[in-house]
Amino acid sequence: MHRRTKIVATIGPASENEATLREMIRAGMDVARIGLAHGTLEEGIERYRRVRAAAEAEGKRVGILVDLPGPKVRAAKFEENGSLIAVGSTIELRVGQTASNGSVIEVDYEGLLNDLEIGDKLSIGDGGPVLEVTDITSEKLLVSAIHGGKVVGRPGVHLPSRRLRMPTPTKSDFVALDAFVELGVDMVAVSFVRSAHDIRRVGTEPHPRGPLVVAKIETRAAVENLPGIIDAAGAIMVARGDLGTECSLEDLPHLQKAIIKDCIAGGRPVITATQMLESMISSPAPTRAEAGDVANAVFDGSSAVMLSGETAIGADPVNVIRTMSRIAARADEEMDYESWAKQLAEMRMTDRSEATASVTDAMTMAAWRATQELRIERIICISGSGFTVRSMSRFRPEATILGFSANETTVQQLTLSWGTIPMRINKGGSNEEMVREALRLAKADGHVRSGELVSVLAGSDSSSRSTNVLRIERVP
Ligand code: PEP
Repeated sequence: MHRRTKIVATIGPASENEATLREMIRAGMDVARIGLAHGTLEEGIERYRRVRAAAEAEGKRVGILVDLPGPKVRAAKFEENGSLIAVGSTIELRVGQTASNGSVIEVDYEGLLNDLEIGDKLSIGDGGPVLEVTDITSEKLLVSAIHGGKVVGRPGVHLPSRRLRMPTPTKSDFVALDAFVELGVDMVAVSFVRSAHDIRRVGTEPHPRGPLVVAKIETRAAVENLPGIIDAAGAIMVARGDLGTECSLEDLPHLQKAIIKDCIAGGRPVITATQMLESMISSPAPTRAEAGDVANAVFDGSSAVMLSGETAIGADPVNVIRTMSRIAARADEEMDYESWAKQLAEMRMTDRSEATASVTDAMTMAAWRATQELRIERIICISGSGFTVRSMSRFRPEATILGFSANETTVQQLTLSWGTIPMRINKGGSNEEMVREALRLAKADGHVRSGELVSVLAGSDSSSRSTNVLRIERVP
């Protein structure tokens, strides 16, 4: 069985050249993530153009997710070979962007001295030193290192999100958002979301006219306001780096499971992110624990698993993608599809007062049942916004979903959907004509063979908003 769980890979200095990008696509990158927390907007735009060019050259569909940094606080650059923070040492924290070392850390957050309180804990990087505020003066914070460690480069500084007064998206996020919407970006991720209001502030056209908006769950407030955020967002990312700092580490695996479950019930793709194969930044093979983490993220129901530093600054981004692809494909094979769909049938997604969504919900459930009973291997979904495809994908059918849309942006956004091969179809007339055309395209691309049975889900005509026709067809 081919891999069903999608791979999101972050593009950075180690992966931005054309040859590497093309190899990454061949190795299985489904979505390229362009993080704007490092580098300039122009560098981000250049990476965007290169990914589009590499996908075109490879003749493969690759989605692009631009990650807006939000109110991300960073330390000024540490010494060349990194600086050691010793447990128990006292360190000064100052507002600045020039340089940091083991005893003075400069931080690019103007509100540092006003917003924090004695007793607050901060951390450096994902899982790096943890510092507790012991004194505050008019020009510096004094902190004591509860956990030590080595820090390199310009790491993020995690302040308790309840103290951060900056809104998300920030002013500079909006500048970047405008530039990438103009370019036709497929998806944008919003950092440090606290409520559904933060997602609504993005203000882009609803997808597929605008990008699919991915809410990063990395604050305690986001966990508390999850149902509203899932409702307002197009997809969710379990951003375990910051979330693991904001919540206790022992809660993190359980939060991951609970967030994923709610996203699936709501028909939203969900990405599990951060440190999945971290040791491969410098090693040719992952640790046993990392292999287990990727497989367990698949069993939890992740639509996609994400690579950050591993592909952005790692020694061998292509090898990392191949490794993740193998682990995910093997876990996909072991997935208990039958009991998954049965569980989902109980929790289901929709607000029953919303007729369009309820009809699609019921039809995708019926499609899953018919497909299982008849041992059908392909489900053809013809969708406008991608809603039907995402609804079908929730059931994690053993059959591959061929997600057709006449809307190019929808097709690009389906690169994130579990078990789905996104396919473009020309805008057609009747339901009958669309089904014939989808079968022809699926056959031409080698996804179906003459004589096999397929399930087909579509609207009854091109003006129908909900999916109200399920057909079982024999491929001509
Ligand atoms: C995270 O915190 O896990 C995350 C994905 O966000 P970022 O990489 O922007 O810190």
